[in-house]
Amino acid sequence: MKTDIQIAQEAKMKPIQDIAEGLHLDLEDWEPHGHYKAKLSDSLLEKLHDRPNGKVVLVTAINPTPAGEGKSTVTVGLGQAMNRINKKTIIALREPSLGPTMGIKGGAAGGGYSQVLPMEDINLHFTGDIHAITTANNALSAFIDNHIHRGNELNIDARKVGWKRVVDLNDRALRQVVVGLGGPLRGVPREDGFNITVASEIMAILCLAKNLQDLKRRLSEIVFGYTYDDKPVTVKELGMEGALTLLLKDALKPNLVQTIENTPAIIHGGPFANIAHGCNSVMATNIAAKLGDYVITEAGFGADLGAEKFLDIKTRAGEFEPDAVVIVATARALKMHGGVAKDELSYENIEALKQGMENLAKHMDTISEYGLPYVIALNRFPTDTEEELSYIQKWCEEKGVHISLTEVHANGGQGGIDLAEKVVDTVENSSKNFKRIYDLEESIEDKILKIAQKVYGASGVEYSSQAKKQLAQFEQLGWTNLPICMAKTQYSLSDDPTLLGRPTDFTITIREFSPSIGAGFIVALTGDVMTMPGLPKKPAALNMDVDENGKALGLF
Ligand code: ADP
Repeated sequence: MKTDIQIAQEAKMKPIQDIAEGLHLDLEDWEPHGHYKAKLSDSLLEKLHDRPNGKVVLVTAINPTPAGEGKSTVTVGLGQAMNRINKKTIIALREPSLGPTMGIKGGAAGGGYSQVLPMEDINLHFTGDIHAITTANNALSAFIDNHIHRGNELNIDARKVGWKRVVDLNDRALRQVVVGLGGPLRGVPREDGFNITVASEIMAILCLAKNLQDLKRRLSEIVFGYTYDDKPVTVKELGMEGALTLLLKDALKPNLVQTIENTPAIIHGGPFANIAHGCNSVMATNIAAKLGDYVITEAGFGADLGAEKFLDIKTRAGEFEPDAVVIVATARALKMHGGVAKDELSYENIEALKQGMENLAKHMDTISEYGLPYVIALNRFPTDTEEELSYIQKWCEEKGVHISLTEVHANGGQGGIDLAEKVVDTVENSSKNFKRIYDLEESIEDKILKIAQKVYGASGVEYSSQAKKQLAQFEQLGWTNLPICMAKTQYSLSDDPTLLGRPTDFTITIREFSPSIGAGFIVALTGDVMTMPGLPKKPAALNMDVDENGKALGLF
């Protein structure tokens, strides 16, 4: 079997100009970044304002195995299949983070014959957006430390600077650091730490900003710390919003690329779904909806994380409604939810599969809770047996649920024609009654309780004493009318990664809040989810190389 990178390198890409022209873009609407990548103008949305919006289809999944269940792959494959059945469709994806690319997962640009290209660029430095975000984030850190060093006019308490430095790598050694050591010339010592860039508030802001002005407003509202008398201090007070906006002005422009079958794809922004809000940018999705009859987009991890935040946070910021949802399921992950160990997932086990179906059932209920119609995409892996696949298909058919055996990894768009037809049928013929899980006016506790009960299936929510103190503080500061960005393990519906399947009778514990006032949400941290991941014992990067001609090797 060919590897992803072999398939990608054999594919025939069109010059990006052809892709842009296929979308009827004028020259001023886009700028080339080399032969196969382009940036779309940030004024494009305004120009297309009066055009009707295409249908938005969200791809989500059951709780995954550590290798991922193929959401990006199905998103790309479905986009290709939609074009094959003559629906003008644009794919909107997140930019991969180097942390997981070099750590556990390898590439994150789809797989097999459903990939976005050039996959080497997309997986590595792409058009530099993530570097720009890292730089803007760390510029703010440097200016905070400089301000404290230069007399601290704003009275910032160095012990209460919540703003952390970032790097787009998995680097556990940087989780907690002390900066400013070495005497008076080297600044004021204080405890700091690093997050992975894709967990940063700047990444969230870039993804939720509607335009350049909105980006600047959100940046200016960032609260990075508190004074000695506990008043929040903002970027505006530091006078940094102009410089930060300048550093990000090109990163704000969505990136246009193509798939193996030359389907247009807009790839922009990449917040993680377990520790951030997990969806590509509002600008990318909204531009895609203006340019196509359909947009296929994804939200990270399972429906409990990415989809919840897509539906409760992103659709609010982007002022749009999705039309249908695709839930990706695999026999492998369902067996894992039925108790099979990760190294045994390649073997048939119908009994475990039967047990594991509960996980899928919960995510189906969740999407129904939002009033959205859905289709199950059963992503076929080479190790799946006919009996396993037909058991899952029958289970769905008995419940009257649309399911499609999807072979986009092996066969590209051709392997997703049935899924595409079912998605179109669902969008055109199912009733939709989209409603979000909570209203913004509800208290923070009520919003979290609704997410915990309706999306996770929990019985209740507990708060640490620190979290309770923060709730009282947020009340005083008037920060209660914001959506909630839950930080939770992706492996379980609960906050305990070992509770698989569809756990019941559990509570969710909020250990701490992190207000992201610029992004416009409150992050609620559960369990011991980390905002800086570590590397595994054998990182994926050990397989990576480059040959004497500069060709990338081993990027999965
Ligand atoms: P997710 O978006 O859910 O994290 P990805 O689409 O990135 O998942 O897929 C994870 C990995 O699994 C990728 O390396 C991809 O090539 C591989 N993969 C996905 N679907 C299949 C399949 N049907 N058969 C074999 N490998 C697959």
